[in-house]
Amino acid sequence: MYFYSSLGYLLWILSIKLGTGDLAKYPFLNEASNYIRDTHFDFEELNRPEIEHIIYRAAKKIDVEITKGIIYEELEKYEVEILTFLITLIMVKSIGLELVLKKHSLLEAIRAEKFLIEDLKREKNQQKRRLLLFKIFEDLFKFKVDIDSENHQLFKVKVTDYLERAVQFHEQEWKLINRLVHKGYVYLDADETVRLIRSELSTLIYNRVKSMTFSSLPKAIKSRVDELSIKFKPMYEVRRIYTTTDYPPCIKHALDVMAIGENLSHSGRVMLATYMLAIGKSVEEVSALFHKAPDYNEETTRYQVEHLAGSRGSRIKYSVPSCKKLLNENLCFATEKCNGIINPIQFGRNK
Ligand code: SF4
Repeated sequence: MYFYSSLGYLLWILSIKLGTGDLAKYPFLNEASNYIRDTHFDFEELNRPEIEHIIYRAAKKIDVEITKGIIYEELEKYEVEILTFLITLIMVKSIGLELVLKKHSLLEAIRAEKFLIEDLKREKNQQKRRLLLFKIFEDLFKFKVDIDSENHQLFKVKVTDYLERAVQFHEQEWKLINRLVHKGYVYLDADETVRLIRSELSTLIYNRVKSMTFSSLPKAIKSRVDELSIKFKPMYEVRRIYTTTDYPPCIKHALDVMAIGENLSHSGRVMLATYMLAIGKSVEEVSALFHKAPDYNEETTRYQVEHLAGSRGSRIKYSVPSCKKLLNENLCFATEKCNGIINPIQFGRNK
């Protein structure tokens, strides 16, 4: 059995290093910042002609994330990735729109998540896998993850660490009762283990941008930032996306969460969409409610709303979840106006 706390383990971990390929995939690691520092890279160097293609790449990456709601898949060599990462942070900071920053942080986290899952599943070298777990989970988030000694595709985490993170998920599969638990540890596959840190990873990138300070932007970056700002501003004007005050509190809460571009759980989205469809909103109107979600993708959202509306797949129109179910999923924000109703659709009918 492997113990992270052992001195031997720590000495071993300090004695091996990440490869440049890892720095390309995980440019938020401390080693990547050290690379920038060691090369004595100066802010003014961003105006050099040979950096132009990296600035273009950074702008393209942000554009894809914000307008399409998808991750930027291309992976280049580490020097390019590390600089692209740095330049995207500078650009997002300069654009100065909170919703752009939130969306970028989330999609950067999801991008790293994809690479990490692949690495943990495919890497045959156990030392390399342990190093990645150490560098990303423990070094950055003080979260210890170990590889199961018998099944190397399983990972074990302390119950307390698991609960601290799984509390943000409302789906039944994340409830401790539905997990494999043994001697104080929860056993997870690579996808589940990595999913646990999405929010922390996203916050880490968010905080990096927030803490950045610079007095002026290099000219080469400024023109790209101006283009992106002009494009994004109309998309992220702060305006309320509903006008009536007759919605039940759970729906109002979900709309407020969406209006400020926060992430709404899957169950919350199902509740909001089924409710809106039930009161007669069109698929287009319902899909539009989600356009500020950090992971918004127009095509996927429309497909899912059509599915809930019964115009796709099984052709069954989904009902609005009951108040009891919503209460169990932490989505109920009952006030006295709810007056004992059993489904949000009844709200306001029994006054
Ligand atoms: S009681 Fe029902 S309608 Fe009221 S907030 Fe809770 S889930 Fe919504």
